[in-house]
Amino acid sequence: MSGETKCAKLLIAVVATICALVGGVPGQSVDSSKGSEAGEPYPNMPSIAPIGVRIAKYFDVPPSSQGPVIDPAKGYRLQDMGSGLYMITDNAIQSMFLVYDHGVVVIDAPQNLAAFIPKAIAEVSDKPITHLIYSHSHADHIGGAKALGGHPIIIAQDETLRLLKRDADPNRPLPAVTFADKYTLRVGNQMLELSYHGNGHEPGNIFIYAPKQRVLMVVDIVFPGWMPWRRFAVAQDINGYFAQVEEIRKMDWDTYVGGHVARAGTHADVDLQAEFNNEVKQAAATALATTKPGEGLNPLDKNNPWAFFDQYIDRVAAQCVNTLTPKWSTKLAGFDVYIWDQCSSMEQTLRIE
Ligand SMILES: [Zn+2]
Repeated sequence: MSGETKCAKLLIAVVATICALVGGVPGQSVDSSKGSEAGEPYPNMPSIAPIGVRIAKYFDVPPSSQGPVIDPAKGYRLQDMGSGLYMITDNAIQSMFLVYDHGVVVIDAPQNLAAFIPKAIAEVSDKPITHLIYSHSHADHIGGAKALGGHPIIIAQDETLRLLKRDADPNRPLPAVTFADKYTLRVGNQMLELSYHGNGHEPGNIFIYAPKQRVLMVVDIVFPGWMPWRRFAVAQDINGYFAQVEEIRKMDWDTYVGGHVARAGTHADVDLQAEFNNEVKQAAATALATTKPGEGLNPLDKNNPWAFFDQYIDRVAAQCVNTLTPKWSTKLAGFDVYIWDQCSSMEQTLRIE
């Protein structure tokens, strides 16, 4: 299915859902006089639209967050990272490959790049793909593995194998070589150091370091120039995610590849994201401490604990968004897209973990 067809189908599904919500579902009726009608916004409601509200125009993407342009006829761009290492990207998702004297090691095969990877390799090498490394199990990063063809040796962390067995997706073949903590791949005169540092995104997500090129690839943790994807890139353990950003920050490398967005990153990008993370944490902590539970709640909801907490949490998130907006809305692309998600997930982590 083409991207356009997918988008069209998604749009139809979304419109149908909205129509169902607005018009009511035939055969079901809700007596709205008993509740659930939208009321007044909270006091000091942020101007950034919360989840579920249509946005007329998102904030512009700052020039520093944009990558080099892509030739539309080609659909991807190839970036030489030095000494036989290359990044392939459509400016939304990224993978890499490493050329050695007898073959090519591919690192991640995203669904959206699978068709481009062989073409990109052919630009610089006539060698076959001999190895494929999975950064982690998620389909957006390795769902094009089967489409690559051939029979490369697939390498991943133990937890990735476990998750892929569970998912049983024919597009993501199981790795033949797995490891727990560290694995060094030596091919010809090239080397990659794979290591596992715990659950910063999902179990099995690894650090991939090319020592000769001084390039570190860690997928779905830091997004150079951008706000992390929603809820800190759907980190399963937000404290673990924060710790991993700090770990990346302290490591010795020159170029960071994050698996998403338009460009590779620098230490300044990682420092900026760490600073943002710490300020979200501080803003959410302050909002939790200073927001009064139950204030403004309809007395008719006094026996509804879910309503009590939801109303409190909404006000905490609104205060967190307000605190961060003046400084961060122009510093990281996509701030307005995901700041409500970040504040909501942060307050939850601080409240229950
Ligand atoms: Zn992922």
